[in-house]
Amino acid sequence: MSIIAGISTPIGSGAISIVRLSGEGALELALRFFSSSSLKGEVEPNKMYLGTFSYGEIKDRCMFVYFRAPKSYTGEDMVEFQLHGGVRLTEEVLRALLLNGACMAKEGEFTRRAFLMGKITLDEAEGVMALINAESQAEISSAYSVLKGKVSEKVAPICQKLLDVLSYLEASLDYPEEMEDEVAEVPTVLQDVKESLTALLSTAEKGKLVKNGISVALIGRPNAGKSSLLNAILKEDRAIVTDVAGTTRDTISESVLHNGVRINLLDTAGIRESVDLVEKLGIERSLSCAESADVVVYLLDPTLNDEVDQNVCKKLRGRLIVVNNKSDLAKGKSEYISISAKEGLGIDELLDEIIKDVKDCRAYGDLLTLDRHIDQVSGALDRIKDAIKSIEDGQTVDCTLVDVRAAYKMLGEISGVDATDKVLDQIFSKFCVGK
Ligand code: GDP
Repeated sequence: MSIIAGISTPIGSGAISIVRLSGEGALELALRFFSSSSLKGEVEPNKMYLGTFSYGEIKDRCMFVYFRAPKSYTGEDMVEFQLHGGVRLTEEVLRALLLNGACMAKEGEFTRRAFLMGKITLDEAEGVMALINAESQAEISSAYSVLKGKVSEKVAPICQKLLDVLSYLEASLDYPEEMEDEVAEVPTVLQDVKESLTALLSTAEKGKLVKNGISVALIGRPNAGKSSLLNAILKEDRAIVTDVAGTTRDTISESVLHNGVRINLLDTAGIRESVDLVEKLGIERSLSCAESADVVVYLLDPTLNDEVDQNVCKKLRGRLIVVNNKSDLAKGKSEYISISAKEGLGIDELLDEIIKDVKDCRAYGDLLTLDRHIDQVSGALDRIKDAIKSIEDGQTVDCTLVDVRAAYKMLGEISGVDATDKVLDQIFSKFCVGK
């Protein structure tokens, strides 16, 4: 494959910027620009050399390292220049390489080559991307497991079972009598596969909480203290707090990290009968926001009669945490969590309760977190259910084969076996250029 070159560090002034080369002949090309007194004879792989990059007027004192194929990120010959981190300088170095035979790397092309050279599977490549974009410790830990191949590891034994089923069924088309015993086993194996896929898919719900954060709608009557709670959690005055009922008309959204898990907080307009149109819109939004949130925190003001609140709570679906605010003023019902948003009391306990479902997932690696993997597993599960049904309905072996083959293919696409160029384009276009 041709030599590609790209800048692997963010564009901007910094201490160091890295320009990378990959492909057959990368070392020879790099050595046309790099000289060093420690370079005598053959270049030793994996060793840093201090020297000079020079091309016309462009010169820099830099570090140089060579990775010999196949022991490199891409599996090809690779060279990295660690330059002084100037925007112009880095671009000029790249330009020199491009003018002398290298091609500009496309988004994710280094990682794509690593996949094509069999260095990593497709899901591992997606793990690299997830790690780069991770915004919480929980996400880092789950992305790292994906990068280490945990997803394909889980799918591999299921694929093996499907492969057995496929070989039994295919053989039975030509030798029905010889294959009777094996074919008799097929329904049990498919049932087994169905259970494994269902179990895997059941981790996706928690996986999504880890990946996207837990969305929390703060709901309650005007003046219950929603904005104060938001501020207490964010430890800053983000929402405007006033004594005038109905001041939070817009929905405010902010994220915080609690014990490594991301929580996306939505503060909404207070719930009460309203004649003001703007406020009415806000109330509708707060109810619909509660519908789409993972968790609803319903704030009670214990100094008020809670009949209205009880009615609203009945309407809310999903996971509900009822909270007594203003514990500094009055004690509420003991079955609820007590906090004082104003005094900052009980806030950590409330946050612990919010992340309860994912807090114990020490092994985030056991969760399915990426949409594409969830879709493939769910699609495969549907086809297995169809295959089981076709056997129960006494349909032909061919019918069962079609579904089992489709399920096998869908699972295979997770690690990238037979992945089409379109799928690869879709995945790697989300990467940055030098990755
Ligand atoms: P929202 O309308 O639900 O957003 O309520 P705000 O956060 O704007 O608070 C309404 C009023 O209640 C303000 O005067 C707050 O200072 C007060 N408040 C909020 N939380 C507490 C609390 O825990 N204790 C006390 N004493 N007052 C509070």
